[in-house]
Amino acid sequence: MISNAAPIRTTCCYCGVGCGVLARPDGQGGVAITGDPDHPANFGRLCSKGSALGETVGLDGRLLTPQIGGKDTDWDNALSLVANRFSQTIAGHGPDSVAFYVSGQLLTEDYYLANKLMKGFIGSANIDTNSRLCMASTVAGQRRAFGTDTVPGNYTDLEQADLVVLVGSNLAWCHPVLFQRLSAAKAANPHMKVVNIDPRRTATSDLADLHLGIAPGSDVALFNRLLVEIDQQGKTDRTYLDAHVSGFAAALKAAQSDSTAALDITHEDLQAFLDLWVSTEKVVTVFSQGVNQSSAGADKVNAIINCHLATGRIGRPGMGPFSVTGQPNAMGGREVGGLANMLACHLDIENPAHRAAVGEFWDAPTMPEQAGLKAVDMFNAVADKRIKAIWIMCTNPVASLPQANQVRAALEDCDFVVVSDMFGTTDTAKTADVLLPATGWGEKDGTVTNSDRTISRQRTFLPPAGQSRHDWDIIADVGRRMGWQQAFDYTSPDEIYREHVALSGVAAKFGRDFDLSDFPTDFDSLTPRRWGGDRFFGNGGFYHPDGKARMLPLSHRPPVSQPSAAYPFRLNTGRVRDHWHTMTRSGRSPRLSQHLAEPFVEIHPDTAEDLGIKPAHLVRLTAPDGTCILRALITTRVRRQELFAPIHWTAEFAPSGRIDTLVQAVTDPVSGQPESKASTVQAAPY
Ligand code: SF4
Repeated sequence: MISNAAPIRTTCCYCGVGCGVLARPDGQGGVAITGDPDHPANFGRLCSKGSALGETVGLDGRLLTPQIGGKDTDWDNALSLVANRFSQTIAGHGPDSVAFYVSGQLLTEDYYLANKLMKGFIGSANIDTNSRLCMASTVAGQRRAFGTDTVPGNYTDLEQADLVVLVGSNLAWCHPVLFQRLSAAKAANPHMKVVNIDPRRTATSDLADLHLGIAPGSDVALFNRLLVEIDQQGKTDRTYLDAHVSGFAAALKAAQSDSTAALDITHEDLQAFLDLWVSTEKVVTVFSQGVNQSSAGADKVNAIINCHLATGRIGRPGMGPFSVTGQPNAMGGREVGGLANMLACHLDIENPAHRAAVGEFWDAPTMPEQAGLKAVDMFNAVADKRIKAIWIMCTNPVASLPQANQVRAALEDCDFVVVSDMFGTTDTAKTADVLLPATGWGEKDGTVTNSDRTISRQRTFLPPAGQSRHDWDIIADVGRRMGWQQAFDYTSPDEIYREHVALSGVAAKFGRDFDLSDFPTDFDSLTPRRWGGDRFFGNGGFYHPDGKARMLPLSHRPPVSQPSAAYPFRLNTGRVRDHWHTMTRSGRSPRLSQHLAEPFVEIHPDTAEDLGIKPAHLVRLTAPDGTCILRALITTRVRRQELFAPIHWTAEFAPSGRIDTLVQAVTDPVSGQPESKASTVQAAPY
C-alpha cells in the first residue's frame, strides 16, 4: 500500500541529467516513483531507468554486514583494521603509498570528505575517481580554454537554439530526458536543425537532419575545418575576440594546416554541416563520451570551444559548447576536487596560494604539492606495488577500467584492498580484504550536481539495509581512528554541506567561478538550484589571470591503437538505453533487462559476410589482454571494419561479456582519460 503522505522529493541516481523524482514509500520496503513536475531538469519526465527505480530498492545482492577476508565482522573490527593498515602503510612507505578510488555516484558530501581525508590529512593527492573515465577531457579542455572547469550554459539553451550539434553523444539512450526535451523543442520549432556527429548511427541520429559518420577520432580535424570556414565566411566576431580571447591567430593557422582527409565523409555532407553551423547564430554544440574517451579528448573539447569563441557564440541564450556528463554527480565530484589533479572548489593543486588557503581552512597538517595518480596510472601503481593499500568506494574498476583483467590481477596481488559498496557481489568486491556495506539510493541523504550546474538533494525514504552506513560516516570514522578526531567529527551530511559552502566562499576570493555563498546554509531548505546563474561568459569574464579565454592551436591525432593484421577491427564501446554502468542496480530490474537481455556486438553486414558470421551467431572478440563471446547484431549502423559493444555486462551478469578486458589502456596525455572508443580487436565466429 502506498502512503498518502506527501512524497519525498529526491533525485534520480543514474545519469547526469539529474532528474527530480517523487518517491512514495509503501512502508514495507517498496516505493512508487514518479517524475517531479517542479524539477528544472525534467519537469516531471522520467526515462525507462528512472521509472524503474522502485524495482531496484530490494535487498537482492546487498552487502549487509562488514566483512574481513570474506567473513562477517562488526564495524569496530573492520574500521580499526582499515585505519591501522592505512596508518601503518603511510608510516612505513609514505603518504603516496596509499590511494582512494572513488565515484561520480557518490554524493557531494561523501566525495568532499574523501578528498579532505586524502589531500588534507593523509597528505597525498592519490585520490581519483571514475569520472576520469567519463569527463576528465572536458575538465582539462575547459580549464585550458576558460581558466576553470566551467560549463557555460544550461539545458534551456538546447531548447532555445536553432541548431544543436551532438558530437560523440547518443543522447537518446544516455541522457534520455534531455533528448526528450530536445525532441519536443524541435517539434515546436520548425526552424531548428539537429546534426549528429558519430561514427555510428544511433537512436540519436534518427532525430538528426544530418548524420556525419566521421571516422573514429577525427573530431579535431572536423572542428579545425569549421574554424577555417568560419573565418573564410567572415563570421569571426572580431569585437568579442579582441576584448575577451587570446590565441585566435595561432589556432586559425594550425587549423589551416590540418587536413580533412581523416574524416572519411563526403564533401557534400561536410559542406552541409559547415554551412549550417556558420550560418546559424544560435548554435549549441553538445559533446559527450565520444569526444572525451579519446587519446586526443582534451584537444577535441578545445577544438569545439575554439569555434564558439571565434564566433562569440557562448554564454548567450541558445549558444555555447555544452558538455553532458555521464554520472549523476560527476560535476559535484569535480567541485570538491575529486580528481587527483584538482583541489576543492575549482582551486588548483599546483597553486601554492590555493593549497595554503584550503589547508588553512581545513586546519590540515599537510597538503600535497603536486597532482596524484590518475585512474589508469593509479592501478598501474597498484600492480607494481608503489601503492600498497587502496580504498575503492562505490565503483567497480575490475569491470570498468581498460585492461580490466590486469586491474583484477593487480588488486588480487595488492597488500590491502578495501571496498565500500552497496553490493558484495561485484567483480571488484571479490578482490577486497575488507568489505564495508554502504547505504544506497533512498537510504542516503545529500546533494548532487547535474550537467547544467544544478545542485539537487537526494533524500532518505528507506532505512539503511542491514548494518550499512553512509559513505561520509564511514570515511569520517576512519579519519577519526587515524587520529584526526576534531577534523572528522561530523554527525550529519548537513554539517559537511555547510563546510563545503563556506570553503567555496574562500575559493571565490581567488576569483574562481565556483561560489555557493548565496546558497542556503540550512541543508533542508535547499531546493534545486543552479550555481553561477544561468550562463557564464556572454560578456567575457574568463578565469585566466588576464580575464581572457584561450584558443588553442590544434592538429588531428589519430587513435593510438591502429588496426593490424593481428587486430584488424576498431572496437567502439558505450551504453545501452536501459542499463547503467556495471548493472549492479539496473540488472536487478527484469523490466530493464527486456530491452537488451545479453551482451552483443554490432557488425557491419560486409564485415560479417567476410568473417562468415550470421545474425545472432556468437562471435569471439580477442585483444591482447582478453576475450569476449558476444551475440552478433548485424547492422549498417556501424561502419565497415568497425564494431560496437556495450560496457555493462560483468562477471556477475555475463562472464563472457566483460568488454573492458578488450579495451587498451591508452590515455590522453593531458586529461588522463582512457581511449575507450577506439581499441583494436580480432573478431571470428565462435
Ligand atoms: Fe534518471 Fe537520467 Fe533517466 Fe533522468 S534521464 S530519469 S536522471 S537516468
